Amino acid sequence: MIDIIIVGGGPAGLSAGIYACRGGMNTILFEKMGVGGQTATTKLVENYPGFPEGINGYDLADKMKQQAEKFGLDIRAETVKKITRKGREIVVETENGQYKSIAVIIATGCRPRKLSIPGEEELRGKGVSYCATCDGPLFRDREIAVVGGGDTAVEEALFLAGFGKFVRLIHRRPRLRASKILQERLVKHSKIEFVKDSVVAAINGKDVVESLSLKNVKTGTESNVPCAGVFIAVGLDPNTEFLKGTVEMNGSAYIITDEDMKTSVEGIYACGDVREKTLRQVVNACGEGAVAAFTTQKYVEELKGISYGEDFTL
Ligand code: NAP
Repeated sequence: MIDIIIVGGGPAGLSAGIYACRGGMNTILFEKMGVGGQTATTKLVENYPGFPEGINGYDLADKMKQQAEKFGLDIRAETVKKITRKGREIVVETENGQYKSIAVIIATGCRPRKLSIPGEEELRGKGVSYCATCDGPLFRDREIAVVGGGDTAVEEALFLAGFGKFVRLIHRRPRLRASKILQERLVKHSKIEFVKDSVVAAINGKDVVESLSLKNVKTGTESNVPCAGVFIAVGLDPNTEFLKGTVEMNGSAYIITDEDMKTSVEGIYACGDVREKTLRQVVNACGEGAVAAFTTQKYVEELKGISYGEDFTL
């Protein structure tokens, strides 16, 4: 029987892994892609303490992975399909079979939200992207657009301006949601145009993206702008589909926990971006991973303690 299974290998899951393994827990972490989550695709993380010059997101995630493995975390590339509580154990089903553990920590994070407009799905990977760090260099000296008004959109526009001929930042409102420091950098940048009060109605192109159909939501004016690469950064959706009906979630499918990271189901904990909360940053994902591991370890040890001599073999 495994003590703790962690699902998700972003900063929250890896931090939980470091604390759980260092605490002597027999722990497996399942991650369907490479570890690091969204952080691994961030060019520069400049608000994580300890790195005054900032650090590349992939490098930061890789250091966290190395640190977790140093303490014995068993990281496996498997996709978790279902989690069920059966009596005192938790059954975790992956594409390779079933695993039984005393407790589970969910740290599956979020994924970029889609716009659901014509052309988005058809031209994905052919000019439509959700990751500037991954695909930005493909659009060197081309016209680029970024959709959204949050931190991600502005960071991506600034990053892409280093490659593209010209970047349009298209936002549905007159004001950006992004932090002040990013907005100040945006205003100063000569290669970025802020297209306010506008939405992308369609992404056009035969084999690759060629143009965007824009609509001004205030005036109703429609226009067509040339574009080779469009980066969609309109927020995040939590990766919780496989947990529907298992743990309590809010209306947007984020997992509800208490401050000790306990979910509505005994033995199942959640931490990081997948939780209902107000701030989604690497720094609090790591902190929550530590809290989740601490609470989970207490639960596991208590259960093992009270189980000795009872009709329950661990
Ligand atoms: P976000 O803060 O939720 O912003 C999403 C943006 O997309 C908003 O401006 C929103 O418009 C717009 N939007 C949403 N749905 C749309 C639609 N259907 N059509 C057009 N526009 C739409 O998401 P995010 O920027 O990905 O950031 C997520 C979290 O990560 C935030 O907490 C953010 O602070 C954090 N983050 C932090 C950093 C950093 O600290 N350096 C970097 C990246 C992300 P409205 O403004 O009108 O709602």
